[in-house]
Amino acid sequence: MTSLYRAIRLVGMEFVKFALRVRRWVMECQGMSETADIVVVGGGCIGAAIALHLAEQQAGKVLLLEQKQLANGASGKGIGIIRTHYTHPVLAKLAYASLQLFHNFEERFGGYDSGFNPCGYFILVGDSDVDTLKDVVSMHQPLGIDVQMVSPAEAQAQMPFLRIDDVAAAAYEPNSGYGSPPKTTIALANRAAELGVEVRTETPVTGIKLDLEGRIEAVSTPTGDIATRTVVDCVGPWARKFTEALGLPFPVSPVVEHVVVMERPTEYAAPHPVVSDLVNLCYVRSDADQPYTRIGNSDPKYHPQFLLPDADQFHGQQFPDICETLQQKLIRRCPILETAPVVETYSGIWGITPDYQPIIDRLDHIPGLYCAVGFSGHGYKLSPIIGDLMSRFILGKIDDQVKLLDLFRFSRFQENSLIQPPIRYARAGGLR
Ligand SMILES: Cc1cc2nc3c(=O)[nH]c(=O)nc-3n(C[C@H](O)[C@H](O)[C@H](O)COP(=O)(O)OP(=O)(O)OC[C@H]3O[C@@H](n4cnc5c(N)ncnc54)[C@H](O)[C@@H]3O)c2cc1C
Repeated sequence: MTSLYRAIRLVGMEFVKFALRVRRWVMECQGMSETADIVVVGGGCIGAAIALHLAEQQAGKVLLLEQKQLANGASGKGIGIIRTHYTHPVLAKLAYASLQLFHNFEERFGGYDSGFNPCGYFILVGDSDVDTLKDVVSMHQPLGIDVQMVSPAEAQAQMPFLRIDDVAAAAYEPNSGYGSPPKTTIALANRAAELGVEVRTETPVTGIKLDLEGRIEAVSTPTGDIATRTVVDCVGPWARKFTEALGLPFPVSPVVEHVVVMERPTEYAAPHPVVSDLVNLCYVRSDADQPYTRIGNSDPKYHPQFLLPDADQFHGQQFPDICETLQQKLIRRCPILETAPVVETYSGIWGITPDYQPIIDRLDHIPGLYCAVGFSGHGYKLSPIIGDLMSRFILGKIDDQVKLLDLFRFSRFQENSLIQPPIRYARAGGLR
């Protein structure tokens, strides 16, 4: 009886599969729907990088669908610091590989400009973090990263306006700097389009349809369904909302991140290197064409105050007091800014996870669903290498470099094994 039941079920399932194929064929013939081999959802730097690398690897028909305009989320407002300084060796390796791609961006990606400016990067620490900084530098050098310990005075020699009496040690990465996240996103998407990716803006994915076996069958959009077996979720801070209906509890919380821009006095108008200030817990960079210094927060204690229940509730709002706090941090590090004008304050949105690291995986409970979300404030610098590795992961071209992505698996939250760096700064928390 059981085997008869199984046989009937099997025949039934085969019939359903056949019917689905016929239906897709009929729909295509009638022009009612379209098909894609892979649908990438989210037109930030991560989605654009993945779509481009899929196209380079001739992955078939690839669509990149963005609900609004390219770089509508975090990628539109990021400060764009590109450095390799990470306390976890896997992140350092990825950041180093990405840095090399930023250096060769134009040759590598069809002549497009990412806005990369290799102006150099200093990290400054106080007494309690000197040993940690030395350990990180010693871990980085064998990886090939160009980084040295330098004295605070050497940092001051490049930035004479820097107050260094509370800085106990510093390290310098001469090849790091910053880029433009929106420019990079558009560059990656344009190159992807040249290689055959269909990039569609104003096209929200409103649902994912599953077949009777639970596999992805189509994505829904306001203009109709698109039949596909493979979806790559790159929706950044929208991650929790995007797959809620599928019962996937993505631990990604949208957080508002603020930036203050101040104008330096004319005698200090020349651009300066990027600074990660682990004493005041902030990051700073200048602009290439204006005498401006931008500052953002890297103190995790503020994040609970700036959480939003839903990324759709972000409309560029700024929370009270934080911009004043950032301004004061900048003045403390650069006293010449005491009377300098604030040019602008603005905010963007991040998606943070409990360990401040992304979720990059294939979601076995929904065959055909991949994700690269939750980059927690440091995804821009990683985007070119994530595009490369994720495309190879999706296409089953696994090697040791692709295997590095295993660190970011979704199941780490259920396994209660959050990512723990082997070395830890005293106050910077998971942000390093
Ligand atoms: C102020 C600030 C400073 C930062 N500084 C740095 C830094 O110095 N260095 C660094 O490396 N990183 C930095 N970051 C973080 C970095 O910008 C992000 O990690 C990165 O941009 C994430 O890119 P993403 O593509 O994952 O997400 P996003 O750029 O948020 O893109 C997600 C996209 O998905 C779209 N989307 C959502 N739902 C749907 C749907 N249903 N259908 C279709 N599309 C959808 C959204 O509209 C959005 O465009 C900063 C971020 C901010 C805000």
